[in-house]
Amino acid sequence: MEDNQEKPHAILMPCPLQGHIIPFVHLAINLASKGFTITFINTEFTHYRITKATTSANNQEYYDIFTEARTQFGFDIRYRIVSDGFPLVFDRAVNREQFLKGMLYIFSAHVDDLVGKLEQNTKPKITCLLADTFYVWPSMVAKKYNLVNISFWTEPALDFSLYYHWDLLKINGHFGYYDNREDTRKYIPGVEAIEPKDLPSYLQDTQTTTMNKMIYKGYENVKEADFIICNTIQELEPKPISALNEKQPFYSIGPIFLLNGFTNISIPTSLWSESDCTQWLQPKPHGSVLYVSFGSVAHCSKKDIIEIAHGLLLSKVSFIWVLRNDIVSSDDDDDILPVGFEDEIRDKGLIVPWCCQISVISNPTVGGFLTHCGWNSVLESIWYSVPMLCYPIFTDQITNRKLVVDDWKVGLNFCDKKEIRRDEVSEKINRLMSGKSATDLRNNIKQVKKTLQDAVSTIGSSERNFNKFIGDVKAKIS
Ligand code: UDP
Repeated sequence: MEDNQEKPHAILMPCPLQGHIIPFVHLAINLASKGFTITFINTEFTHYRITKATTSANNQEYYDIFTEARTQFGFDIRYRIVSDGFPLVFDRAVNREQFLKGMLYIFSAHVDDLVGKLEQNTKPKITCLLADTFYVWPSMVAKKYNLVNISFWTEPALDFSLYYHWDLLKINGHFGYYDNREDTRKYIPGVEAIEPKDLPSYLQDTQTTTMNKMIYKGYENVKEADFIICNTIQELEPKPISALNEKQPFYSIGPIFLLNGFTNISIPTSLWSESDCTQWLQPKPHGSVLYVSFGSVAHCSKKDIIEIAHGLLLSKVSFIWVLRNDIVSSDDDDDILPVGFEDEIRDKGLIVPWCCQISVISNPTVGGFLTHCGWNSVLESIWYSVPMLCYPIFTDQITNRKLVVDDWKVGLNFCDKKEIRRDEVSEKINRLMSGKSATDLRNNIKQVKKTLQDAVSTIGSSERNFNKFIGDVKAKIS
């Protein structure tokens, strides 16, 4: 009993987005494997979607995504849900602005209330709050309940540095400057000169929006964190990481999905039902299939979808295309693909609303990834040595493209001009999939994969940083 009282107990809380929930779940598993008790909190709406997508359970209240992790590994992971302030039927995508305002101004009260209740009744005693860097309330809640305040940034350190030094971008006239201005000098600690076009989209916004307000507040908040952990790799981003370390304790612990070898653990995290693509892939030649996905939140115009569809046909390359049912946000026309497209592709292409991405890109038949450059997708693609065709749409994806194409040379730019044209789409797909450019990309990606492999080995930087982080947190608690 006495021993149990001293066990660190962390509340983990991701933003309610697919690309945040997945790394947070991996983090929960890794912390639990090091002896932490974890209380993992999803929003009620996220929980509802995971339940709907992954089970036939009709009583969602009793569906606990960590059941298998507990029974299989004996981890002490508890699962709770919190209201985001809106009823389940509220359409968060259509009413995005209202929803974001709720996340900015109302949500903290619900979190405060839940943490307060957990604080009173829970054993072992809650010691840490480990929340997403995008949240604006963690320092307030951590102070109120005397918890160690840990921030988890699920994107690259480069993006973190740019947001962290948002004031410097403002002073130098690069914030909110949407143009191909190329006069950036090196003034952000740890960041080589970066062109304004490569800044995350929210730093290019020419007006104040709820989203950039939220990030600004989130980054004021993170300056009060005791520790910051980041899903990146020291050897890939040494300069931003060491510069950030001079400001606050900053640990690179990525790719979190590879740490500690719990890659096969099955925890339902998907917000959509997954279509199985294995049968379709099975007869295809090695490295011949292009996987196309723009992640969980980005939207495209119908015009771009049509050009991409024609480009895919022109390329004659086999493909799996994940087309979420909400991929085109503002169109009343349900039929977003060119007329007759699905008949024309026959067995050349498979269109699915969602799939298990890891199981697709780990299939040896997949040889290229047309991606929006979401950070998880980038790390997964490198890990499975699948070169990328980069079509960043917004947020960190813009900056991640720079890392993938310009710095690490494991991907190509999708469209050189602003407009997407089918002939260029076809040409780029072929350069990605075959010929000398494809060979060069495949060689480069193997090198970068080696960096990931080394980082998560028992003596690697991410493993060492994770252990150091655990030790530092325990020291702070005691
Ligand atoms: N993903 C998936 N199935 C899909 C598309 C995406 O499982 O059909 C997963 C993908 O493996 C990744 C996450 O969803 O782990 C998306 O995160 P990412 O950072 O790449 O993009 P975001 O959705 O945040 O824009």
